[in-house]
Amino acid sequence: MRAHACVTIGWCGAEVSLHPSRRRRGRGGRTSLGFRALAPPSVRLSEWELQNHMPSGTILKALIEAGENGPWMRFIRGEITTEEFLKEFGRLCSEISKTSVPVDSFFSLLTSERVAKQFPVMTEAITQIRAKGLQTAVLSNNFCLPSGKSFFPLDRKQFDVVVESCLEGICKPDPRIYKLCLEQLGLQPSESIFLDDLGPNLKTAASLGIHTIKVNDPETAVKELESILGFTLRVGIPNIRPVRKTMEIAKDSLEKYLKDLLGIQTTGPLELLQFDHGQSNPTYYIRLANHQLVLRKKPPGTLLPSAHAVEREFRIMKALANTGVPVPNVLDLCEDTSVIGTPFYLMEYCPGLIYKDPSLPGIEPSRRQAIYTAMNRVLCKIHSVDFKAAGLEDYGKQGDYIPRQVQTWTKQYRASETSIIPAMERLIEWLPLHLPSQQRTTVVHGDFRLDNLLFHPEKTEVLAVLDWELSTLGDPLADVAYSCLFHYLPSSFPMLRGFGDCDLTHLGIPTAEEYFRMYCLHMGIPPIENWNFYMAFSFFRMAAILQGVYKRSLTGQASSATAEQSGNLTELMSNLAWDFAVKEGFRVFKKMPAPKLLTRSYHTWASPQSLLSPTGTRSYSSIPEGFPAQASKGALVISPEGLSPPARELYHRLRRFMEQRVYPVEQELQRHQASGDRWSPSPLIEDLKEKAKAEGLWNLFLPLESDPERKYGAGLTNMEYAHLCELMGTSLHAPEIFNCSAPDTGNMELLVRYGTEEQKARWLLPLLEGKARSCFAMTEPQVASSDATNIEASIREEDGFYVINGHKWWITGILDPRCQLCVFMGKTDPHAPRHRQQSVLLVPMDTPGIKIIRPLTVYGLEDAPGGHGEVRFEHVRVPKENMVLGPGRGFEIAQGRLGPGRIHHCMRLIGSSERALALLKARVRSRVAFGKPLVEQGTVLADIAQSRVEIEQARLLVLRAAHLMDVAGNKAAALDIAMIKMVAPTMACRVVDRAIQAFGAAGLSSDYPLAQFFAWARALRFADGPDEVHRATVAKMELKHRA
Ligand SMILES: Cc1cc2nc3c(=O)[nH]c(=O)nc-3n(C[C@H](O)[C@H](O)[C@H](O)COP(=O)(O)OP(=O)(O)OC[C@H]3O[C@@H](n4cnc5c(N)ncnc54)[C@H](O)[C@@H]3O)c2cc1C
Repeated sequence: MRAHACVTIGWCGAEVSLHPSRRRRGRGGRTSLGFRALAPPSVRLSEWELQNHMPSGTILKALIEAGENGPWMRFIRGEITTEEFLKEFGRLCSEISKTSVPVDSFFSLLTSERVAKQFPVMTEAITQIRAKGLQTAVLSNNFCLPSGKSFFPLDRKQFDVVVESCLEGICKPDPRIYKLCLEQLGLQPSESIFLDDLGPNLKTAASLGIHTIKVNDPETAVKELESILGFTLRVGIPNIRPVRKTMEIAKDSLEKYLKDLLGIQTTGPLELLQFDHGQSNPTYYIRLANHQLVLRKKPPGTLLPSAHAVEREFRIMKALANTGVPVPNVLDLCEDTSVIGTPFYLMEYCPGLIYKDPSLPGIEPSRRQAIYTAMNRVLCKIHSVDFKAAGLEDYGKQGDYIPRQVQTWTKQYRASETSIIPAMERLIEWLPLHLPSQQRTTVVHGDFRLDNLLFHPEKTEVLAVLDWELSTLGDPLADVAYSCLFHYLPSSFPMLRGFGDCDLTHLGIPTAEEYFRMYCLHMGIPPIENWNFYMAFSFFRMAAILQGVYKRSLTGQASSATAEQSGNLTELMSNLAWDFAVKEGFRVFKKMPAPKLLTRSYHTWASPQSLLSPTGTRSYSSIPEGFPAQASKGALVISPEGLSPPARELYHRLRRFMEQRVYPVEQELQRHQASGDRWSPSPLIEDLKEKAKAEGLWNLFLPLESDPERKYGAGLTNMEYAHLCELMGTSLHAPEIFNCSAPDTGNMELLVRYGTEEQKARWLLPLLEGKARSCFAMTEPQVASSDATNIEASIREEDGFYVINGHKWWITGILDPRCQLCVFMGKTDPHAPRHRQQSVLLVPMDTPGIKIIRPLTVYGLEDAPGGHGEVRFEHVRVPKENMVLGPGRGFEIAQGRLGPGRIHHCMRLIGSSERALALLKARVRSRVAFGKPLVEQGTVLADIAQSRVEIEQARLLVLRAAHLMDVAGNKAAALDIAMIKMVAPTMACRVVDRAIQAFGAAGLSSDYPLAQFFAWARALRFADGPDEVHRATVAKMELKHRA
């Protein structure tokens, strides 16, 4: 059965009331009601009488005392026109007051917005009543305007039935109009409640059997109504809390100001609460008399330049009021700081829903879809505003929005910087180099996200767009990208909960790509090619904002308790930004030659990669369907001939150097390693290093991604370096000659990415110059170190120093007399979560307490002069500034961000395998057994073929991993990196072993590099993590992404 409830507003010229309601049929009880919905104008009438020098009460007398046939009653029954009414009424008033009466002005007052304004408390009550399935009706004593239309200042949609006296020819308190209303509602009198402020109106209702409530004060009337209906009619203001201590404002002075502004004389106390929303500008809820308002102010204290511009918020909302963009109704801007200490503005409180959790829990998928569509539409509306017509031409500069924003946020970030964040430093360099060329200029909101939208409680309709603090004229795509941030933030992300880890198809929420497409479709614009740039920029901007919030929290100025958390989040945000920057790519890729389609080429092109595919499946394209193919960046170059001319030239220079200077001295270098001087650096190597440096073959390893400005390295991509690194891998001595050997390469990259300027100056520069060497100390004999969380060495704080104690082994390079730095991994807090216990500390090798126990050997090989040492650290005291990034960040540094350093071994192993195969081929051609060269033996041919195939397979996989790291980032390439670590060392072991076999016993000797190649390839099945660990990674990802 249909549920019923009704509300009737009776408007009797000077006042307006609501009436009947009833509960659901079948449940019994009253169901009809009426109550006053509009502000009583008696106060205004007295004011008006005073202003017009008339005795008080004249108007009321003229309205009521003339009786049934007086001008007023005939007017509201629609029997006379406005003109006739004003004439008669003016005469009547003049008779009563003995003075002339300006009736036109009276009529203006009668129809003015201030008089005919609905009480917010009534609006709330109506919403609640209807939400419970009850009907509402308005029984209105009203009149016709000169236009012939009835004067009805309320939103008709709030009511199931509207009965107007001027259209029906009868008015309250005539019982017929009550009956008519009940009839239209289909209710009995006993099922209804009638609210009105006039005794005669109430009396008639009561005589008919309708329950009545006299409305003197709307708040009290609503309370009485609540007790009859048995449920609350106050929506309850969501997201508010008592005002925070640091955010208190002077209530008395505010109250006085509001009374003047709103023309309120007698009131109850001012109710002041604070919204927990609004990190930047503190926002307050105010209830004063019947007014519900929202106040937004600047935060107290010294502020960053141009931030917190509440004046601009006020201006734009006012300007947008008539443009179709839903905004709250703003009332006043107060720039007088004597009122509450800072400038502020006021707007009407707009009841509605704010969805704080963007995954919209507890909502149907179809509704979620509709909510995001509504959000997208409203953004299109904002971007379609004719800003010149709206008077906003000077609201911001036109053009160059993104360059200016990058500058502004860089400046803001610098002004609130508290420590060095490596990703921010890289972004500050990368963003200006990758600015979009073409931009439209529109109004931009600047903080457009779901929780800045106020939705209708029942419909998927945006009632108001809030928080315009960052609005300006600018590039609209920045808004679109910004509103997709939450697609990439995990649900556990503090303060800004996202849904990056949720299944969007299941939720019904459009993916970021779909959201972008939807936007383009609504706006009628072509798809956006460089949206990764916009995402990178948005995350960068968010990181800068969070840093500002964090800095203010340190000085007690931030307006939210959660502000303190924002420090750590800045770094997380900047890492996310950098992931998008990497996906967007580097300019160097764009300069690479285009593919020659339909012809066989040494290079193939692949689309940018992404593992961020919304459906959770591994995809080879992050480009939304329909996006143009030229959005692809980087080339998968499978042969050195396909490299860009500068990289190809470098490759050939390196090859010449290898052929002319390295291979010829290998035996001599080998002899040094076996001599009594082996624990000192070979003078020959030192000499070759100088030559390599002079030929520009130096520090080739540092990937462009870590060093976009080529400050430290050659600026090769991972893909380019893969080819050069392979060449270096053909000789075990070569990597050091070009300053590209482990573990220095990994340590240098760590310092570039995470080191402070002081750390870089002290450690990085000597390493880059090749003057110093370094080691990395993680593995411990007493624990299974393939699981880095097992590491036990302790790092304790003591008297402003860190003191380390631990037992390490297999520390490559520690025995080298040039080794000046040990990058040490140990536990700072054994009680922290598993992956937050470890830290990385830079330990100068001359610190007392470092005791080298012995060199370890690999199949008897010492690998002098660096060796692999077992070492004890006993009470080693290190200054606190030697910590990298901060305590608890060790795992993150070691595991997460050292992708490139980790694949170099694989690149080199391809080179060792090629060299082994070349040696094999030469050997089997010249060696004769059983009457013919070995090469004619079928098993040897099979070995050659098998080796060639395995090398090519592994190389392709290694190159693909490098390519993915370039175009999609280290994180997205994690699976490919794990795969090559599984594949390359075992492949090299097999290929080298076949070569050793073909060489006979000589293959095991040190006359050839084969035995050392084999030992090293075998060692790498541990040194870079055991095979099993990489297999486990691959299997886990396979099961996750290809379920
Ligand atoms: C030549 C060489 C150089 C090195 N250089 C350094 C260096 O410079 N700095 C440094 O800190 N360390 C270095 N190491 C050490 C190397 O990193 C470790 O040996 C490696 O991490 C494995 O740790 P572990 O030896 O403690 O083996 P454990 O952790 O004890 O593992 C032993 C075996 O357990 C099995 N296993 C482990 N995990 C799994 C799994 N998930 N599933 C199935 N089986 C599993 C594997 O078979 C593994 O080989 C070097 C090692 C070598 C050989």
